[in-house]
Amino acid sequence: MNIKITIAIDGYSSTGKSTIAKQLANQLGYVYVDSGAMYRAMTFFAMKNEFISKDHFDVTSLIENLDKAQLKFIYNPSIGFAEMYLNDENIEKAIRTLEVSNFVSQVAAISEVRKKLVTIQKEMGKNKGVVMDGRDIGTVVFTDAEIKIFMTSSAETRAKRRFDELIEKGQEVSYDDVYTNVVARDRVDTTRKDSPLVKADEAIEIDNSNLTKEEQFAIILKLVEEKLRDV
Ligand code: C5P
Repeated sequence: MNIKITIAIDGYSSTGKSTIAKQLANQLGYVYVDSGAMYRAMTFFAMKNEFISKDHFDVTSLIENLDKAQLKFIYNPSIGFAEMYLNDENIEKAIRTLEVSNFVSQVAAISEVRKKLVTIQKEMGKNKGVVMDGRDIGTVVFTDAEIKIFMTSSAETRAKRRFDELIEKGQEVSYDDVYTNVVARDRVDTTRKDSPLVKADEAIEIDNSNLTKEEQFAIILKLVEEKLRDV
């Protein structure tokens, strides 16, 4: 298997995109890129600089200061994947809070933010052998990806998964707040003007409401192996 391809995984919030993306990257020896972490990092940057809060969003200042946010992924061998750094600070844990989730879709709707991140993402995938998950990977970042997957499942299933995940990480959240966030992010992500979340025409839709992680992995790995035989 010397030929490397690009795998784009898009879908709604908390559909388990990163789980399947990591499994595939491990299996194939590919690089995994969590593009959502980059939008979360820019949101953390905006929060830290007080460009965004509950009652205001100073878009102009965020755009003017975009160059001051240096993003980097650094591989952490003890956990087996790369962690997100902002200006040399490890922010992997800080970007996974519900607070960041509550602002991220507003920040991700800004075209200048998207332009900055899409440029980095394209560069990361230029040699193929990459699995990237997000909202616009098959439609904008890697329009020529050999495999495009679009993940769905019911909002209740997704909120329950995300809630369990946050509780396991020791965060104090309520199921209702998590559910509200999942639905609100879907709404903003699918209706924004720039690069809204839509299924690419050629993407294969996987509804994993009733699939275990193992079943889902088996289905998608089969698709990838078939593709690798063809290229
Ligand atoms: O994947 P994750 O849920 O961490 O993404 C957080 C948010 O980042 C999404 O709700 C969306 O607003 C934004 N995002 C995006 N485009 C991507 C990846 C994430 O707009 N490619």
